[in-house]
Amino acid sequence: MLYINGEWKQSKSGSTSDIYNPATGELIGSVASGGGEETFEAIEAAKHAFITWRRLPGPERGKYLSKVASIMREKQDEIAETITLEMGKPLTDAKGEVIGAINYVEWYAEEAKRIYGDILPASHPDKQLLVLKQPVGVTAAITPWNFPASMITRKIAPAIAAGCTVVLKPAPATPLSAMKIFECFDAAKLPKGVVNLVMGEAEEIGKVMTESRDVRKLTFTGSTKVGKLLLKNSAETVKKVSMELGGHAPFIVFEDADVDVAVQGVLLTKFKNAGQTCISTNRIYVHEAIAGNFGRKLAEKVAQLKVGNGMESGVDVGPLINSEAVEKVDSHVKDAMTKGGQVLCGGKRVNQHSNFFEATVINFANDEMKIAKEETFGPVAPIFTFQSEEEVVKKANHENYGLAAYCFTNNLGRSYRLMQDLDFGIVGMNDPAPIVAQAPFGGFKESGIGKEGGKSGILEYLEEKFVSVGSL
Ligand code: ADP
Repeated sequence: MLYINGEWKQSKSGSTSDIYNPATGELIGSVASGGGEETFEAIEAAKHAFITWRRLPGPERGKYLSKVASIMREKQDEIAETITLEMGKPLTDAKGEVIGAINYVEWYAEEAKRIYGDILPASHPDKQLLVLKQPVGVTAAITPWNFPASMITRKIAPAIAAGCTVVLKPAPATPLSAMKIFECFDAAKLPKGVVNLVMGEAEEIGKVMTESRDVRKLTFTGSTKVGKLLLKNSAETVKKVSMELGGHAPFIVFEDADVDVAVQGVLLTKFKNAGQTCISTNRIYVHEAIAGNFGRKLAEKVAQLKVGNGMESGVDVGPLINSEAVEKVDSHVKDAMTKGGQVLCGGKRVNQHSNFFEATVINFANDEMKIAKEETFGPVAPIFTFQSEEEVVKKANHENYGLAAYCFTNNLGRSYRLMQDLDFGIVGMNDPAPIVAQAPFGGFKESGIGKEGGKSGILEYLEEKFVSVGSL
């Protein structure tokens, strides 16, 4: 269902879209499929709501967010089950995602109280210089399926904390999770029109969002390809934009690292969410002196990962989102095999017609392989080797992407050098799980523009207004 101006609605045409469980292929629901008309209506509702929402004191907006967080907490199991049914991640991971999603709501419930302006020293005795922070306005948000709850709250919570109102379009694969989150907004009795949910024809919805002069901000998480298109389409109305796009994370293991800790790090950064994360490890660079040992230990652990339906207990790696995703992963593995790669474990689909792919480790990876450049978005860990710090930094800094990098070393000087030299928005230094609500998440280069999370996250939804008061 769509949620527009505080009401659940069917699409105007009555058309619907069926949602399938990627683990079983079963039909799990059917949702309204709207388009341009409904998006226009939602923007109008958000525009109207903005007039009063922006005037509500920040701490009052924060109270609404606290209410949303406590309702989400009550419904966390229900939301987590919906995530697993819809996109496949193991239930324990889905529960972790819901906690993460709540953390963003709680963080911005607090930040709503801390939207400070400035008073600047004037250049003349009869002037006062003020900087006010004001909400940007109606915000359009477009989210992906891989974190169908936390990507929504990471955008909506700072937006409404800042005083913006929102029209959200979730991914077509995961509308049910989005509806669960909106049920929480609804139960918290947010004023009508502050948050709106549209789904259906992505291109048409995106067109109305980008062309509208009333939409002053566009926030997107998804592929670099679609991000570029939306950026281009937002140029005509000069919108403020935030883009969280693709990544190609290097994972560097130096000869002085603790190998067991690093192996554990790969399990987390590569196999969580079946590798379907923009900060997933894509290239593992291991110093040649320890590469043999590292490969053996990693393959031993990866071979123990249980691939299966995320609703079953003990499953580590769920299905991929759809058959195209499996095709892509399969083609990357086959390409690596023809270019000198050696499979240490896994390496193929679980069966020809399922969305499952074996947890895979590939040894002797090289720069000619697709896996070295393109996002695999699947459970495949390729091991490259290197000889020197200088060489690996150069290789790690991807031509186009710059989202996350991981580095394992016990040499203090080296870790400080790498913090500076790695061209990525997020660096996990001996830390495979760096993402928290209080930290800025965002990429360099074609991985994105702007930050989400932390004190930077709310600035994306605020404009600075400079006021010079003269003739005092
Ligand atoms: P993925 O490959 O992970 O599905 P996409 O970038 O295709 O990533 O999708 C991310 C989000 O962008 C989804 O909500 C999708 O529906 C939406 N999307 C895709 N194409 C467009 C478009 N032309 N206009 C607006 N949204 C789009």
